Amino acid sequence: MSTEVEQATGEGADGDDSGRLTRRILIGLVLGAAAGLLLRQLALGHPVTDFLVGGVFDVGGKIFLASLQLLVVPLVLVSLTCGTAALDDVAKLGRIGGKTLGLYMTTTAIAISLAVAAALLIEPGAGFELSSAATGAKLAETPSFSQTLIEILPTNPFQALAEGRTLQVIVFAILLGVAMTLSGEAAAPLMRLFESANVVVMKLVFILMELAPLGVFCLIAKVASEQGLEAFEKLTWYFGTVLLVLFVHAFFAYPMLLVLAGLSPLAFFRKFRAPMGVGFSTASSNATLPVNLRTVEEKLGVDASVASFTIPLGATINMDGTAIMQGVATVFIAQVYGVEIGAGGFLTIVVTATLASVGTAGVPGVGMVMLAMVLRQMELPVEGIGLILGVDRLLDMCRTVVNVTGDAIVSCVVAKSEGKLRLDVYRS
Ligand code: ASP
Repeated sequence: MSTEVEQATGEGADGDDSGRLTRRILIGLVLGAAAGLLLRQLALGHPVTDFLVGGVFDVGGKIFLASLQLLVVPLVLVSLTCGTAALDDVAKLGRIGGKTLGLYMTTTAIAISLAVAAALLIEPGAGFELSSAATGAKLAETPSFSQTLIEILPTNPFQALAEGRTLQVIVFAILLGVAMTLSGEAAAPLMRLFESANVVVMKLVFILMELAPLGVFCLIAKVASEQGLEAFEKLTWYFGTVLLVLFVHAFFAYPMLLVLAGLSPLAFFRKFRAPMGVGFSTASSNATLPVNLRTVEEKLGVDASVASFTIPLGATINMDGTAIMQGVATVFIAQVYGVEIGAGGFLTIVVTATLASVGTAGVPGVGMVMLAMVLRQMELPVEGIGLILGVDRLLDMCRTVVNVTGDAIVSCVVAKSEGKLRLDVYRS
């Protein structure tokens, strides 16, 4: 299947075009940040700035996001159905699923433990003046865990597709793939149709990714000009603690997992810059899904049967970066309000933040909404969220990078353990 995809996209494992695209995305990112900060310094309030920020950058960024989101449902449905059907053995699917879920949960629990430990050591909330912060933010209601579980099976798959409910689409695609496998020859025409659709959708990813450098520029320029750096002064310690743990998790914990699986972290990070850039600028795991899937399959050599399952599932339920923010934020709010967190509290944070991050949708800002669930469980004041809301956008961008990196690393590790990783491509 991947050869078909290579032919369709005109790319081989050497990925010259991908390399060029990665460079252009990174250039868009740097130029966008510079342009945004410059506009903020020099011409805030000027009509031309307003036109650029509220008009050009806003529209450009939204068009880019829409172009990525339009890919998600067809991509998940088609590639996951093909991937599941290609496994031709239901037991294999169960094994891959078990490994993937196990790794996702374990890495998330490690991420939160690191976050809580760092926050207890650094004490970002100590000496924080409550009156100086804007509290009282209103957040949407969080769905209950049981509700999420019940709704995992779509009562109407077409509605799930139309409403873009990723978890339901994942379940439907897996069931369809399994049924196609079990139907044998009778399913061959349908299989061919899905395979052909898969090639076409991947081609669409390739076409729309050409927009990425410009889209990234617009998104970053808008955030940089609107937010500046002032908001961070009061929250330096909170902000720094989250960043530190994100960094440690991404560049120490994840590489260790790769090394344990016998894979080179350097080769991984060299090839994974484009999804990191898109994750950072969009702050959305869902929007990064197309480029992530493409990179994992084409540049890291993960077989489509594993990638098509692990990457969409990861974009939906695996949010280590989000869990880190939730861990640090909970301890920070407890410290600000003078609440002691004992050993029992530590465990509650690990369990509830793992569940909260699973329930977090891969779109900007939802991690903050789900933080309310953790705070409620800990009996901490939910208004505490208002303290940190002001700096959340930049942290959201950083944690999304960790979220998408975790998905790809687990995908490589699972593929390696199943003999479904083309090592020549990974190392090339
Ligand atoms: N923006 C994050 C993501 O899409 C989710 C969050 O933490 O809000 O991965």
